[in-house]
Amino acid sequence: MFDDIPDLYKDQTADTEEEGWRYVIGDRDARRPPELLTRDHVARCIVREVKAGRGSPHGGVFLDIAWIKEKIPNAAEHIKKKLPSMYHQFKQLANLDITEEPMEIGPTTHYIMGGIRVDGDTQASTVLGLFAAGECAAGINGANRLGGNSLSDLIVFGKRAGEYAAIFAKENGHGTIDNDEVERIAKGTLEPFEREGGENPYTIQQDLQEMMQELVGIVRTEEEMVQALEGIEQLKRRSANTFVPGNIDFNPGWHTALDLHNLLTVSEAIARAAIERKESRGGQYRDDYPAKDPEFGKVNVSLKKDADGRMQIARVWIPEMPVELKQIIEEMG
Ligand SMILES: Cc1cc2nc3c(=O)[nH]c(=O)nc-3n(C[C@H](O)[C@H](O)[C@H](O)COP(=O)(O)OP(=O)(O)OC[C@H]3O[C@@H](n4cnc5c(N)ncnc54)[C@H](O)[C@@H]3O)c2cc1C
Repeated sequence: MFDDIPDLYKDQTADTEEEGWRYVIGDRDARRPPELLTRDHVARCIVREVKAGRGSPHGGVFLDIAWIKEKIPNAAEHIKKKLPSMYHQFKQLANLDITEEPMEIGPTTHYIMGGIRVDGDTQASTVLGLFAAGECAAGINGANRLGGNSLSDLIVFGKRAGEYAAIFAKENGHGTIDNDEVERIAKGTLEPFEREGGENPYTIQQDLQEMMQELVGIVRTEEEMVQALEGIEQLKRRSANTFVPGNIDFNPGWHTALDLHNLLTVSEAIARAAIERKESRGGQYRDDYPAKDPEFGKVNVSLKKDADGRMQIARVWIPEMPVELKQIIEEMG
């Protein structure tokens, strides 16, 4: 980790293991060790090790926290107290004692930074009467959500969404419902039960998951992502022919068949937006554009479907931050 500290964080990051250790035990003059850099950076370092052939048997790396027993007495008790759920999970699921042995870890999807475009004050989306907050809404975290910010996002913007949705409902009533459309959609959802045969929805989901991890994952290139878009088109065709055996009640296979449409839509939106953003910023890392482009700092990439269901892409200017807010941020240092 010491070999790859981003310039932006050099001043705040320890130079040596000895300094990193002092930080961990509370020395206020020491800087944090590079293992505690942002999650996107740590994830890229793991991928780099794996790609260089230094990975662990299951395609990850080893994380060793047991070594602190060389430094402090009662290390095992200390680890159990600090990381109780991690200790129990590894012990129960993998029969591995992380106070004694290194654990095998690897990066996976953690958070979706993009999402439904909403108004920052009311959380209203561009679909009249639809409000969104939390991980499905876009904007608040920029290109990289810092640890813990999802909880505060949910509390603040969930409250706003609820309040404004209630006001909207009071003012507009519930509108009229197109029963023909409801019937058409209900009929479509039952098709996976009615086919004579077809594909297992789990197989399609797994193929999508593996393809997105491989081609639109932690380190991306245009060539790979264009390949992924072709793959998504193939998966769309396959997902129109799913077959689900069993009962309609509590049938996760059926739920997966219904989810496929949304999974494929979101995957396509992610790939298209990532191709459009020809730079690296936060969680988006492009091997073909490894630097940040200041011009992209001024825009969001926005996608919507046209009448034929094709995704249209646009760059939307981000409004200037109000002067009062800039002042507050400057005062906070
Ligand atoms: C491993 C991990 C660790 C994390 N650690 C932290 C942390 O330490 N601090 C932090 O702030 N954030 C953390 N996060 C992020 C945070 O947990 C999520 O961003 C947050 O829980 C999102 O909340 P949400 O209500 O927006 O969405 P969700 O919690 O995903 O809720 C969406 C709900 O909608 C339901 N749903 C989906 N589809 C349908 C449908 N068609 N019909 C009806 N219901 C449906 C789902 O079942 C789910 O219950 C972590 C995330 C992960 C994956």
